[in-house]
This record gives sequence, structure tokens and C-alpha cells, in this order.
Amino acid sequence: MVKEVLKNLFSKPATVNYPFEKPEPLPTTRGTLTWDMNRCDECQDCERVCPPMAIKVFPEEKKVEYSPFKCIYCLLCIDNCMQQAITHATIMAAPDYKKRVELFEKKQ
Ligand code: SF4
Ligand code: SF4
Repeated sequence: MVKEVLKNLFSKPATVNYPFEKPEPLPTTRGTLTWDMNRCDECQDCERVCPPMAIKVFPEEKKVEYSPFKCIYCLLCIDNCMQQAITHATIMAAPDYKKRVELFEKKQ
């Protein structure tokens, strides 16, 4: 037991001294989503599979509305997008006072 105590006393801590130190996000961290509208064909599959209805696709206007505050980061939209038009970052959406909506539009 003494050996174990000494080992733990002199080894590097497993946790980070947050908030003074910020941990590096893992490559698998599910962060904010981005639509590549050059790839998107407005099929609306992402909208259909999204459990909290955080996505609205407007095929006529060739635009996508995404609500990061509704999103539960399940990534079902990414898994179901045949065009691979959706990607996610490893950074989480910053807290905000307003329920912001992000708009992605196809350039004409
Ligand atoms: S599933 Fe992909 S291609 Fe279809 S509307 Fe969504 S982002 Fe666009
Ligand atoms: S990650 Fe999940 S909750 Fe978020 S927009 Fe995609 S399907 Fe919807």
C-alpha cells in the first residue's frame, strides 16, 4: 500500500486543473456542425432523422437552418447524409443568452 501511495504522490495527475488549464478536445468530441452547401442536394434526410428537430431544410431557397441549442450531438444527420455535406468540429457551441440559429446557404 505504501508503494501505491508514493506512486500516486509523485505521478502526474490524471485530471486537468480546470478552469486554469483547458483540456485538449479529443478527435472524437462531438462539437458544432457545419454544412457544406456545395455538396448538399437539399434531400432533407438530415431533417427527417434529427430527433430534436434542430434542422430545417428549405429546398426552394437552397438553405439549411441549424439550431445548435436544440442539437443533442447524436450525429445521426452526419451518418444519414449521402452527400457527406455535414461535418462536426471538436469545439462545443459557446453558451449564449439567445437561442441562436445558424444559416447555411448555397451560393448562386
Ligand atoms: S442529408 Fe445531406 S444532402 Fe440531404 S439535405 Fe441534409 S445535408 Fe443536404
Ligand atoms: S447531431 Fe443529432 S441532434 Fe444535432 S442536428 Fe444532427 S441529428 Fe440533429
